[in-house]
Amino acid sequence: MRTALASLALVFGLSFSLSATPVKTGFGEVDISPDIGMERPGGYGKGYHQAFHDPCKARAVVFDDGEKPVALVGLDALIVVKPHVEEVRKRVAQETDITPEAIMVGASHSHSSGRTGMVQQGDLDHADELVREIVKEKPTEAKALNDWIWAKEIVILDALIQKEPIRSVEVQTIQIGPAVFISNPAEYFCEFGLQQKEGSRFPFTWPVSLANDCVGYVPTSEALGPNGGGYETRLTSYSNLVPEAGDQIRDTRIALANDMKPDAVPEPAPTAKFSAGWRYGDVPPELN
Ligand SMILES: [Zn+2]
Repeated sequence: MRTALASLALVFGLSFSLSATPVKTGFGEVDISPDIGMERPGGYGKGYHQAFHDPCKARAVVFDDGEKPVALVGLDALIVVKPHVEEVRKRVAQETDITPEAIMVGASHSHSSGRTGMVQQGDLDHADELVREIVKEKPTEAKALNDWIWAKEIVILDALIQKEPIRSVEVQTIQIGPAVFISNPAEYFCEFGLQQKEGSRFPFTWPVSLANDCVGYVPTSEALGPNGGGYETRLTSYSNLVPEAGDQIRDTRIALANDMKPDAVPEPAPTAKFSAGWRYGDVPPELN
């Protein structure tokens, strides 16, 4: 059994700059709401949808400067995993001029969305029978349930590490004029996003979390330290990168963004002087 944070984060970057004008822009959306009764994603146990509030959507925007179109896709999903993103990028590239690396797919982390899970189908096929059975057991007493969850997670993580000892982490930057969108595939602690905004030389910097893959929680070293804690800092199938992974991802993101040159913030065209109003109102004060 491994008892340390054993996965290593490898960070690589993709970057895109779309800066010429004029830029054509198009939007699209489709409904991807799950049905009542379908499995609800997230958490360390099972749950099912029982009520409908409002629809889940997949929304896309494409910016095209005539040379290098880019697409930003937002999904109302808990997470999005690499094989799905690769399939989306491949199909879009087949039917359009948008190349795979110019497509960013981010999840809004809706727990009310369709069934996308943290452990994927087939991930435990190689594991012992005992491991595959143990994850289905569940004590009913609350205290025992809590202990069981963390113990079960270590067993699952051990099996996942046997299959994939090193996680690669994609970081992608897409520039739209004076704005930059920088992805990370994690439930990334917000301090990192704030630090990234501070370190970016762009006037508009948008951190995009849970994009292009999912490597789980990435806490700060402070949260993992003696005064930290919380479920995100437990070693689980969903939280297992090395403690310095968050800093590595942040520094890569800042470096990628700062390799690009932000365009000037566009000034709106000056409006014509107002002259056609109600004439009684267009007079100075008279005091004498
Ligand atoms: Zn969540």
